[in-house]
Amino acid sequence: MTADIIDGKAFAATVRGKVAERVARLKEENGIVPGLAVVLVGEDPASQVYVRSKGKMTVEVGMNSYEHKLDVDTAEADLLALIDKLNNDPSVHGILVQLPLPGHLNEDLVINSIDPAKDVDGFHISNVGLLGTGQKSMVPCTPLGSLMMLRDYHGSLSGMNAVVIGRSNIVGKPMAQLLLGDSCTVTIAHSRTKDLAEVVGRADIVVAAVGRPEMVPGEWIKEGATVIDVGINRIERDGKKVLVGDVDFASASKVAGAITPVPGGVGPMTIACLLANTVTACCRANGLAEPEGLTA
Ligand code: NAD
Repeated sequence: MTADIIDGKAFAATVRGKVAERVARLKEENGIVPGLAVVLVGEDPASQVYVRSKGKMTVEVGMNSYEHKLDVDTAEADLLALIDKLNNDPSVHGILVQLPLPGHLNEDLVINSIDPAKDVDGFHISNVGLLGTGQKSMVPCTPLGSLMMLRDYHGSLSGMNAVVIGRSNIVGKPMAQLLLGDSCTVTIAHSRTKDLAEVVGRADIVVAAVGRPEMVPGEWIKEGATVIDVGINRIERDGKKVLVGDVDFASASKVAGAITPVPGGVGPMTIACLLANTVTACCRANGLAEPEGLTA
């Protein structure tokens, strides 16, 4: 069997197109321009790249982008004061604090000081609770993008066996909640799971979010299963720096029914979903119809 390739790059472009349409209607019909504020503390090179591309794509879909770059030694009180200002600014509909934060800042405190209605990363404790209880919330972008791709490929996910490898608050746990919400039978595997090969072998859907290059070989995967590879790992191969996922693409694509590549799979969906969450937050804040197909 040769797996279908789930093209995240193309799908992300479709999502951004839907966001741009809703943004255009908001401008025309309501005179509102959605705004996303991104806060970056320090000069971590990877974070700077993410923030730049988030800003660029925000503007491309017609929204306002506000970037706040703070010194690496910014005091916690100053960061909290900025968040408070953004919470109370009606032109800002989404707030994202780029993680990781420098060590002297309390990440939980900072994230939980964002207005949950503007928490477009979906990390605020209120949004975590709302998602866990099946209520309307802001959903973390990477799991949301993964769910959109699964729904698009399968239609209904009801009754499927899903295995999520990884239990982080950012990917693994919300992914499992979303799959449960779509009526999958969900197993969460992690670093202490016994016989991971056997657990993965039962899955109709495998979501790998570990951060270990190519740790899931094709021989673990059930014939015809759908594989969502969230991992982004930088390795050196044949003297060249390359990006690989948590799944061994070469062997997995011979047994899976469908698979996301790395790069070009989940990655592009993450920023597209950030834009989707921002326009959703803007619609909710103004009591207007949410864009269709862009929320969980
Ligand atoms: P994390 O380090 O917070 O969590 C990793 C999880 O993997 C942990 O829950 C741990 O229990 C589990 N784990 C570790 N070793 C394991 C093993 N041997 N067997 C089974 N489980 C094991 O990582 P994260 O933030 O969830 O990110 C995971 C991966 O996804 C990373 O490669 C990260 O770069 C990538 N990521 C990609 C995107 C994207 O946009 N595509 C977004 C977020 C994270």
